[in-house]
Amino acid sequence: MNVLDSELVKASLLEAGYQIVDTPRKADVILFNSCSVRQHAEDKVYSALGRLKHTKTQRPGRIIGVLGCMAQKEGDRLLRRAEHVDIVLGPGQLHRLVAAIGTIEQGGGPIVETGLDRRGGPRRAVIESFPTFDPIRRADVRPLRQQAMVRIMRGCDKFCTFCVVPQVRGPEQSRPVADIEQEIRQLVDQGCVEVTLLGQTVNSYVDRSTGRAIRLSDLLVRVADVEGIHRIKFVTNHPRHMTDDLIQAVRDLPKVCPYLHVPAQSGSDAVLARMHRGFTVAEYREMVCRIQEAIPDAAITSDFIVGFCGETEEDFEKTVELVRWARFKNSFIFKYSPRPGTKAAELYTDDVSEPVKRERNARLLAVQNAISEEDNQRFVGKTVEVLVEGPSKLSRPDLVVLNQPVNSSKIPLEPLQMTGRTRCDRIVVFPGRSHWAGEFIWVRIDKASAVTLFGRRIDLPAVAATS
Ligand code: SAH
Ligand code: SF4
Repeated sequence: MNVLDSELVKASLLEAGYQIVDTPRKADVILFNSCSVRQHAEDKVYSALGRLKHTKTQRPGRIIGVLGCMAQKEGDRLLRRAEHVDIVLGPGQLHRLVAAIGTIEQGGGPIVETGLDRRGGPRRAVIESFPTFDPIRRADVRPLRQQAMVRIMRGCDKFCTFCVVPQVRGPEQSRPVADIEQEIRQLVDQGCVEVTLLGQTVNSYVDRSTGRAIRLSDLLVRVADVEGIHRIKFVTNHPRHMTDDLIQAVRDLPKVCPYLHVPAQSGSDAVLARMHRGFTVAEYREMVCRIQEAIPDAAITSDFIVGFCGETEEDFEKTVELVRWARFKNSFIFKYSPRPGTKAAELYTDDVSEPVKRERNARLLAVQNAISEEDNQRFVGKTVEVLVEGPSKLSRPDLVVLNQPVNSSKIPLEPLQMTGRTRCDRIVVFPGRSHWAGEFIWVRIDKASAVTLFGRRIDLPAVAATS
């Protein structure tokens, strides 16, 4: 979601005549698009802001802004902790950025604009304080013109007790299908072939604006009908909304990738209840079985939080057991980080010590990695379809700064180590040429690790694995 927001912000700045430079040193305006899902993300922004303080004294005209979730969460407090900041805009106010920079350039400010607090007014007023900011799409701000994210909903109403997202991203709202289709057609005109539909709980999507409920399964049919789109992915799913109509749509629509990110967060009922996740482990397992039965080669992935308030060794063991049983393609594992303003921070004590959290994180990761590696070994000797994304970071460290003019003397000679993804979001690395970026190719896999498949391009495959 933040990557998409950054892309839209860059597009709006370019449209307004600004240029993007390749190092903060050259910048007249420095913007941080921030995350507040864990404390660590916020700490990083505050320390980066700290490092910029002296440059402001040396270069007084420079404008510094903090955008996104942390801006929403901190508001004025951010100015108190970093008085050299000029602009603070929440994720619902990003469309105000160009005007805000203009105001500061004229000598005004500082500017703090955020959406209403969840309890700050009637639901309609809160929703209206998070207006949409989606239609400004430009291919030149995407790492790959052929790949794009499309927000189909914003906000979240689930209020999992550990999570700050419902506060900082506002109430759940689904976008009308017609707007989404129009945006995707515009992306196709820009050369896009793969879209990833985004929502915090993407499978609770429902558009009632036409008088009839259009759900994610219906939307997938509509998006699959858009000519020029070859792959459709969607993240993130909530286990409670993984309904049969959606599973069938994934099974029956060839363009929809059988890749399902459905975070569990824990394998213990006691912990899930304290997290207010709205399902039990048995229900989660039943959901996994339904997916596997309908789509045997689906890649299911999950997120887990270790060391949540009150998590015992026994609870944690149940999480390990769930990971072993479900054999996720991969899992993102996080140490619990208390978030002010959430129910968990109010009601429970953060009573699992940091060393225990660290140890559980490492243990769960080791279990998951062993499964991922075993799972990936199945592909050795097989051929997979890959959308080439570009040179891997290893071979082109200069490309880590997106879309910047590259100093040609730094480019290693071709062939380069290239990277791309399969339909199921598996990362594939192979020797290739930079002009392949954006092409669908066939790669025969000859080696696999927990996170990467390695292979070589082949031109006429006899058999193709769906991967
Ligand atoms: N909407 C998505 C993702 C939300 S945030 C979902 O419902 O799954 C992404 C991930 O960050 C979550 O899945 C969770 O695993 C993790 N996360 C959220 N809040 C956290 C916290 N307070 N501490 C540690 N991890 C957290
Ligand atoms: Fe956070 Fe839960 Fe909403 Fe996901 S579903 S964004 S974890 S509150």
